[in-house]
Amino acid sequence: MSRPDPSAAIRHAMALDQRLAPLWPDEILHQILVEGMAGRVAVVSSFGAESAVLLHMVAQVAPATPVLFLDTLRHFPETLRYRDDLVERLGLTDVRNLEPDASGLAAQDAELTLAARDPDACCALRKTAPLQAALAAFDGWVSGRKRFQAATRATLQVVEADGPRLKFNPLATWDAGTLAAYAQVHELPAHPLVARGFPSIGCAPCTQPVADADDPRSGRWAGRAKIECGIHVAQAGGLGQ
Ligand code: SF4
Repeated sequence: MSRPDPSAAIRHAMALDQRLAPLWPDEILHQILVEGMAGRVAVVSSFGAESAVLLHMVAQVAPATPVLFLDTLRHFPETLRYRDDLVERLGLTDVRNLEPDASGLAAQDAELTLAARDPDACCALRKTAPLQAALAAFDGWVSGRKRFQAATRATLQVVEADGPRLKFNPLATWDAGTLAAYAQVHELPAHPLVARGFPSIGCAPCTQPVADADDPRSGRWAGRAKIECGIHVAQAGGLGQ
């Protein structure tokens, strides 16, 4: 049996990137969710500080698209309420809450200390493993990442190869002002923690407020040698983060 050719996946992603990158984000989503890969792509959302814009576009283009939420069981209660509010307001009809494996939690994190002891292992258990299991049913996924969010995302492509799948970042080129303008025009509610100094919101044990001038993601795993949770690590040779 022949093995998948990673360079072919990368070339395919690069060709698609050239075609889709010049389009507006909602046009990119239409191309993916309604035309080229209809029924084969999921959206992954953290229901965080900037999630409403992408979710609003998805709701306009294809509201029955599966939306995967990594319910790590360590989220702020505000995030869970925000998720429920947004889902209802936007009319998203297929939101799936992905929880970590119960036996894994019992074995590795019964005392809820894993985030402090070994955050990479905690993210692997609570995020990466459930996401990889869920993505097995899809040929591609959409993320809300943007280039401006962090230095590590400065060269983010609109289309990336992610192992056997494609990963789409339709908002890659949008800046904070464009997102805010879109949210204002469409009267999208803000995550309640943004007003309390959290420009990037993950799990409660690993998220702190940041000063205005700081990198918006500097409050994530602050003081730790960790900048990404692991779900965005490239698997096909370097197109990802
Ligand atoms: S962000 Fe923190 S609490 Fe959440 S899965 Fe990662 S290490 Fe665990």
